[in-house]
Amino acid sequence: MTDATANCLFCRIIRGEIPAKKVYEDEQVFAFEDIHPQAPTHVLIVPKKHFAGLKEAEAEDAELIGRCHLAAAKIARQRNIESGYRTVLNVGPGAGQSVFHLHVHLLGGRALSWPPG
Ligand code: 5GP
Ligand code: ZN
Repeated sequence: MTDATANCLFCRIIRGEIPAKKVYEDEQVFAFEDIHPQAPTHVLIVPKKHFAGLKEAEAEDAELIGRCHLAAAKIARQRNIESGYRTVLNVGPGAGQSVFHLHVHLLGGRALSWPPG
């Protein structure tokens, strides 16, 4: 295991070392409830493969990033929030990224204003 993977919060959640409310899992993707929800639905969808974020993604990660979004769509459908939800990638500290393992936020279940802050 690399240092990045050993110490990464989301890798540790995927491994079950830190508890989280799992929402969805398949071979490549893991999803769990955000600990500080910003909407009635606030789920984080992450690839099981560790990479820091969109800036660090490589061409080979394209399918994984797509799979995370498709998992978000599936969860949104299950939760009946399809009248309006948002998928968000915060990229870099200036955009609020605080965990450096790529994650898609799925936010929904309330009206969402635009533009985001
Ligand atoms: P970011 O700010 O990097 O885009 O998103 C990180 C998200 O992870 C935040 O929304 C934050 O609430 C969530 N988070 C941080 N620590 C934990 C944790 O230990 N468990 C869970 N479930 N979510 C966390
Ligand atoms: Zn990680």
